[in-house]
Amino acid sequence: MAYKAPVKEHLFLLNEVLNLQSYSSLPGFADATPDLTGQLLEEAARFCEGVLEPLNAVGDREGCKHDPATAAVKTPTGFVDAYRTMVESGWSALAVDPQWGGQGLPGVLSLAFNEMASSANMAFAMYPGLTHGAFSAIKYAGDDAQKAMYLAKMATGEWAGAMNLTEPQCGTDLGLIRTKATKDPDGTWKITGEKIWISGGEQDFTPNIVHLVLARTEGAPAGTRGLSLFITPKFIPGADGTPGERNGFKCVGLEEKMGIHGNSTCFMSYEGATGYLLGEETKGLRLMFVMMNEARLGVAVQGLAQAEAAYQAAADFARDRLQGRALTGPQNPEGPADPIVVHPDVRRMLMDSKAVIEGGRALLFWTILHQDIELVSTDEAERQKADDVVQLMTPVVKSFLTDRGFKVCSDAMQVHGGSGYTTHFPAAQYLRDSRIAMIYEGTNGVQALDLVGRKLPANGGRAMVAFLAELDAFAAEPADEALAPFVEGVKTAKSQLQEATLWLMQNGLANPDNAGASSHDYLNILALAGLAYMWARMAKTAQGRIASGEADPFYANKLITGRYFLERILPEGAAHLAKVKTGAGPVMALAAEAF
Ligand SMILES: Cc1cc2nc3c(=O)[nH]c(=O)nc-3n(C[C@H](O)[C@H](O)[C@H](O)COP(=O)(O)OP(=O)(O)OC[C@H]3O[C@@H](n4cnc5c(N)ncnc54)[C@H](O)[C@@H]3O)c2cc1C
Repeated sequence: MAYKAPVKEHLFLLNEVLNLQSYSSLPGFADATPDLTGQLLEEAARFCEGVLEPLNAVGDREGCKHDPATAAVKTPTGFVDAYRTMVESGWSALAVDPQWGGQGLPGVLSLAFNEMASSANMAFAMYPGLTHGAFSAIKYAGDDAQKAMYLAKMATGEWAGAMNLTEPQCGTDLGLIRTKATKDPDGTWKITGEKIWISGGEQDFTPNIVHLVLARTEGAPAGTRGLSLFITPKFIPGADGTPGERNGFKCVGLEEKMGIHGNSTCFMSYEGATGYLLGEETKGLRLMFVMMNEARLGVAVQGLAQAEAAYQAAADFARDRLQGRALTGPQNPEGPADPIVVHPDVRRMLMDSKAVIEGGRALLFWTILHQDIELVSTDEAERQKADDVVQLMTPVVKSFLTDRGFKVCSDAMQVHGGSGYTTHFPAAQYLRDSRIAMIYEGTNGVQALDLVGRKLPANGGRAMVAFLAELDAFAAEPADEALAPFVEGVKTAKSQLQEATLWLMQNGLANPDNAGASSHDYLNILALAGLAYMWARMAKTAQGRIASGEADPFYANKLITGRYFLERILPEGAAHLAKVKTGAGPVMALAAEAF
């Protein structure tokens, strides 16, 4: 059975757990009634299941083709039409401000669409995803003329965007960037250099592609402090916005990759291309972070989305495939064997996946809800609190959901047995496609460093103090007896998080390698605390419905899955804490030449 969008899960989170209606005083939220949300997500599901999903295997098989003579890139069969349908239906502009042609709905609704699109076809969904990141950077730092020229066209998807950071000698360390920008007398800039692995750097959907290029201006200092960001359109628009003269850069080739074959990964060569400075000179990296923070949340969605699609395929397979008998006696006595879903070890993989997906989805939706609040609230204190949550949780959801997303895809392949390793089933594509999400937009190792080095100490640790207080407040609320294990789970996770944070404060500054060596485990402790909190909130909602007579097994199943998380996944926190507390010693003891 092909991917089915988890609309019921989304509606449960939006309407019941996060209770979007309680934010109706905020702009855009009043329109997000349960009726509208339901209709919108059903429609989104039809588009993603009906249009994008059937193209997923096509994209994987065909990949993108580069024509060296014209530097053009042809995307897989069907992608151009699907893109046109998506743009015409307004899917890419759901949460964009109406002044730029969007529908002004909350970002969490757009998130639900993005998850479905990425589950259905990750390679395709990357094209609008990157455009949105570039849109945000121009919205944040562009002057009025730049905003008027680019924002509406990019918001609606008429033009696409791409981000150009990476060069052959630098990925993580952008301070090594060599691409140069020299100023022309007319105030524009000439960009010269090479960029590699640029997603959507060339394609055949849109009449223009707006590249944001990170480059070093003449005389600027070495390192990241010398970088500026330039709007570099493929076709230079005339005053009326019509794409005009071809700019001096091109795609000189495509990368052969392990997955996401339907997405073009381009080598770009800039040969004196015309660029327009975005924001201030030498402040490019700060701007790039606006774009990257948003893109990191987008990558977290990819981890979740691939996990959901792979899990669904595994669950279907496990119900169908007949092998062996249940340890407790035949469950399918009429058949030659029982379906493999009866075996506890298969159940273990499915339950691990389900518990992480549902808890992880809640954490991501909760984070994006705070991003919405930060954007539209007029209450300064509320905005600051919301921004603290987004800043703290962005590296956590990016890293945790992509690490675990890949694990879910690997387990999905395992559930399929040998069939999963063949191309007859989709498990192999999910595994290959999902792997990149742990690497790009800042590797997961870099996310963990960002968490312990920047996000945690920012503003004297304000975001962490507030998160710990929120866990305490939840645990102190009166709760039904059935929720006691969930409240205990929150208390345990909070105490591990507090202990790990104190350890970092005491030992991280004394020896920065202590912070570096424990960053991955610390991030996981925070992620598990986030999931424990989300599972407790979901359990509370579900228990409330059951207590008021709800018979839909959806709610009882939430409690069962939540209990699985508490009993079989949350205990990992203790191991992570033990590893945090070893510090750098065991990690750094071996001499480099001993590897
Ligand atoms: C399919 C694909 C699409 C991409 N799309 C884009 C795009 O659209 N635009 C763009 O600009 N780039 C893009 N990239 C590049 C991507 O963002 C980089 O690959 C990524 O940032 C990592 O850089 P790197 O590959 O140079 O690895 P490196 O920086 O060389 O890192 C190698 C390893 O060392 C670790 N490491 C490096 N420095 C540190 C440190 N200081 N502390 C701890 N560990 C460290 C890393 O975590 C990693 O494990 C894409 C890459 C791929 C493969």
